[in-house]
Amino acid sequence: MNAARDLLADVRSHRRITPAEAMALGQVSDLTRLASAAHAMRLRHNPDRVVTYVIGRNINYTNVCWMRCRFCAFYRVPGSADGYVLSREELVGKVREMIEAGGIEVLLQGGLNPALGIEWYEDLFRALKAEFGPQGLILHALSPAEIIYIARRARLTVAECLSRLREAGLDSIPGGGAEILTENVRLAIAPLKTTADEWIGCMREAHRLGIPSTATMMYGSVDTWGDRVEHLARIRDLQDETGGFTAFILWPFQPDGTELGGRRTGAFDYLHTLAVSRIFLDNIPHIQASWVTMGPRVAQISLSYGADDFGSTMMEENVVSAAGCTFRVGPDEIERLIRAAGYEPSRRTTRYERLGPAPSQV
Ligand code: SF4
Repeated sequence: MNAARDLLADVRSHRRITPAEAMALGQVSDLTRLASAAHAMRLRHNPDRVVTYVIGRNINYTNVCWMRCRFCAFYRVPGSADGYVLSREELVGKVREMIEAGGIEVLLQGGLNPALGIEWYEDLFRALKAEFGPQGLILHALSPAEIIYIARRARLTVAECLSRLREAGLDSIPGGGAEILTENVRLAIAPLKTTADEWIGCMREAHRLGIPSTATMMYGSVDTWGDRVEHLARIRDLQDETGGFTAFILWPFQPDGTELGGRRTGAFDYLHTLAVSRIFLDNIPHIQASWVTMGPRVAQISLSYGADDFGSTMMEENVVSAAGCTFRVGPDEIERLIRAAGYEPSRRTTRYERLGPAPSQV
């Protein structure tokens, strides 16, 4: 305990902790001091009492996917009767609804659908930007697994693929599909998925091209604290190299309806992992609270464990809801939750430029 106390004092004096020290923090059972050190790191990056969020919509354009990740309850294999691809009209309609509701960010993600080539994405991005670009639409789209697949299918390098997508309107990349960046965990939960090196390599290319991204971690399946720390170390190393990650988001594995199954890990594990992540990732400016998976109450508490951002209003979410997770929160409710936790809300862009509170709240 004394060792942990000394370590947390070091964190407050801005010393970077090592992976071995992060492992030690993973064994701490009293979270009070850990929370206080995580909050100190939050204040180092975001010194005022503002908590940001973005008004946006998560659109899952297709659920057809051949990767069969064992933790995923969302996908349908190609040829399934209930597989879908949203039509152009449906996609445009969903974006229009979001814009009319005051939103700016579309988080566009889906399965690895062999029927969709790079031209499908380019045409879609161009059409969305032509129609909604003047209203400020931000395309936060396609995780590394999707980008790598689109590139392979088109016989392009990842850099060539990213350049074409950016040319068509891609603004930034969500960090989904990282799960845990260790090969033993990936082999157990998603054996066909992009490797840890491929995920890191895609993000490196994106950052080199000036495309920012988030980083994520899905923990609580078969991973140990050693796996979590190795994951965090890979993210921190790449951030040292590129500076391209805007934020880090973690959420627990949602077992319902998945092949992997098992038990859902609870709020204690979430807050513990969040605090260690905030302390270890000393070079990432923002940490999101995952109200979608943990619920509004835990999201409020997470503001004392290092989080400074409430993520997106979402409007719609199909991936974690397919695994039994169904929280829904609109802008007014997000702002109420943030104020009730003792902070000032501000909308933001995908690059974390602040836009102030929603007009109805001013
Ligand atoms: S997690 Fe993504 S890549 Fe894996 S099966 Fe589900 S949709 Fe496909």
